Order: sequence, then C-alpha cells, then structure tokens
Amino acid sequence: MAITAIRGFNDILPSEIGKWQFVEKMAREVFENFGFSEIRIPVLERTELFARGIGEATDIVEKEMYTFADKSGNSLTLRPEATASMARAYLEHQLYTFDPVAKLYFIGPMFRYERPQKGRYRQFYQIDAEVFGVGNPVVDAEVILMLIHFLRRVGLEKLELQLNSLGCRSCRPRYKEGLKADLDEKSFQLCEDCQRRLQSNPLRIFDCKVQTCQDAIADAPKVIDFICDECASHFDKVKEYLGIAGLDYHLTPRMVRGLDYYTRTAFEVVSYDLGSQNAVTGGGRYDNLFQEIGGLDVPGIGFAIGMERLISLLPKDREFIQYPHLFIASPGKETHREAYRLANQLHVEGIRAEFDYEGKSLKSQMRRADKLKARYVLILGEEELKKGRAVLRDMQDKSQQELPMPDIVETLKRKVFGH
Ligand code: AMP
Repeated sequence: MAITAIRGFNDILPSEIGKWQFVEKMAREVFENFGFSEIRIPVLERTELFARGIGEATDIVEKEMYTFADKSGNSLTLRPEATASMARAYLEHQLYTFDPVAKLYFIGPMFRYERPQKGRYRQFYQIDAEVFGVGNPVVDAEVILMLIHFLRRVGLEKLELQLNSLGCRSCRPRYKEGLKADLDEKSFQLCEDCQRRLQSNPLRIFDCKVQTCQDAIADAPKVIDFICDECASHFDKVKEYLGIAGLDYHLTPRMVRGLDYYTRTAFEVVSYDLGSQNAVTGGGRYDNLFQEIGGLDVPGIGFAIGMERLISLLPKDREFIQYPHLFIASPGKETHREAYRLANQLHVEGIRAEFDYEGKSLKSQMRRADKLKARYVLILGEEELKKGRAVLRDMQDKSQQELPMPDIVETLKRKVFGH
C-alpha cells in the first residue's frame, strides 16, 4: 500500500508555491520597513510554556495541543501558536538588554489537534508579528496600521477592522462576574462545553458556535461597559491614533478572542473580498503573558495571520507561477550538447532555461515547451548551428527570427530582461 500523508497535514505543491512565496516576501518587505526583525523559534517547546502562557482553560490547551512525552519522559508540545515562544526567546536571550523594545516577526507552521476540515488543518501556517516592551497605545495603532498595509499589499481591498477592549487584570474580574451572573440565569440554554466554560472562563462562551449559546449571550453585558479608567483612556488613544492615520474601524463589543492572555486592545480584520465574510487575522495586547511565563513585567502586542486563509483570498486573476523564460529545443546529438552547455550558462545569468534530457523529437520538445509555458523557444537545428545561427521563437506572438550564436547569451538577456 502506498504511504500517504497524515490527515490534516498538507503538501504545498509547486503549482501553489508561488502564492506562498509572494505572501512571505510581502510580509518580510512590509514588516522590515516598519522596523521588525525576523526571529526563528523551535517547533517543539516544553508543554508548560503553552499551558501557562496561553492559559489552561482555553480550547488550544484543553483540547488541541500536540503533546507527547519524549524518550526521557519530558512533556513536549508542537507549538500551537508563536507568541508564547517568541516571548520565551525574548526573556531567555535577554533581548531587552540591547533595547527594551523588540519588534519581531515569524513565519512558520503551527500544530493543533483539531478535527481536520476545509480551512482547518492540524499543521497550518501563520505569519506573526509582535512588539514587546511598549505599553503605549500608539504602538497598538502602529501594529494595526502595519497589518492593514500588508493585507492591502497582497491584494485584499474590502477589509474591515474590528476593534474592542478586553480590560485588564483589575477590571476584567468584575466583568467576568457580571457576565457569569447574567449567564447563570440562562445556563439551561448553554451547551455542555459552555456549562463548563461558565465556571472556568465565561468569556469563551462568545466564541461558541452553538446557536442556543449564541442566543444566550446575545444581550449579555459588554466588556466595554466594565473597563477601568486606565483601560478606557488607553482605548480612546488607540482610536485617536488610528484616526490620525485615517484608518476606519468598527467597534465590536462581542469580539473577545479565544486566548486568555489578551488585555485591553483586541482586533480582527475581516475581508469581504470573496463575497462572504472571512476573518483573516486577529490579535491584541497581552500585558500579562510575560508574568505568566517568566516573572518579568513586559507589555506586548501582536497578531497572527492564518496563511491558508489569506492565500484563499488572494486575487484570482494574478499569476504566481514562475514559468521558464526559455526552452532550448535540440533535436540532434551535437545540438543536445550545446543545449546543455547553453542552459547552464543562462542559469548563471539568471535566465530560467529548460531543455530536453531525453533526445526526443523536435515536435515533442516543442509540445513540452508549450506545456511548460516557456516564453521563448530557442531551436538549435543541426544545419543552422553549423553556420553559427539558431532560431528564436516568441511563444506569445509566434514570430521567429534567426540569431547569431556567438552573442546569444547577451541577446537573450536583452529579450528576457528588456535591457
Ligand atoms: P488564532 O491563533 O487561533 O487566533 O488563529 C489565527 C489565525 O490562524 C486564524 O485567523 C486562522 O486563519 C488561522 N488558523 C487557526 N487555526 C487554524 C487551523 N487549524 N487551520 C488553519 N488555519 C488556522
């Protein structure tokens, strides 16, 4: 029996890879312009990093972690998200001694033991950006601006920024109590999971998809009505700075985000590019995460973009595949050698050149050039080659011209690069 991939783990094939490379390239370009540096974190971490960092009473930690014991009996987990690992790296390498402000980004796979379905995988990719060490609301606005700028650069146009404040350690407990008191009265309407959530973490009920739970929270108290003066003034500043940059936002009092560590600003970006509504990304401020994992008091804010989701929203009319610039057709033995020599020379010059490996007929080589969507075909006919000439066929307008072989590399460079 042929061996297949594990369910929920996908191959990204050459026909798709152009989109991934494009999105990654744009992320690097935009984020670096905003002063962010790339960081690479390990795939495996100690389980307690996520249990403490993300929070025990979250879906990720309760149900979705890829956790196992290694041969020495240590409990390890495949990272389900990047923020906790990035924060750990910041503390472990004392990045704050160089500069208390660290602006970091990360691109890579995450692992969650979810039920695989369209758009939900067990290995999926995220682009992450985080700022550690600044509590000032101006950075909340800046991070959001960078995110929107990036999404526009990759071609998304119909975007809506949704914004909320989740309060902080001093005001959220009051809200949780208010919410719990309200929902206690309707607890018969809640699903089994939410009955449990009501005790452990009532905010999570907002994320439940079950209709009766949605009905139960429809007129529940809003966190924004419970936040303290400091959180309210922080939120006002975020809105003010977004306004200064000319960015519209939508206040969404019921958006609470799934993770425990968020404080104050929370946001999501929704795209209407494919007609229906799609949450492309979300993030927020997490001023208590560092205390949970390392004892230091470092504020943080960031976002994670699901790459599969983002790629599904890219404009359909854009071409992401890198086709060959040139196919070298070589029908004879001698010409075949010349094709090999010339192709190698062109690769060094940055021209994507393909040639035939098998000594096939000219007709079949031309068919392959067509299938590969080569822009030009250089035909090395035996007779022409003896005279030091070759025929170049333009596959777009089907015109042909005879060219002298001694200058062929320079001529092809001019054709391909236009100078
Ligand atoms: P989260 O870290 O849960 O806030 O998710 C951030 C983004 O990652 C989401 O907007 C999704 O697009 C993406 N994402 C989360 N879980 C999965 C998954 N299992 N498969 C694919 N994408 C995911």
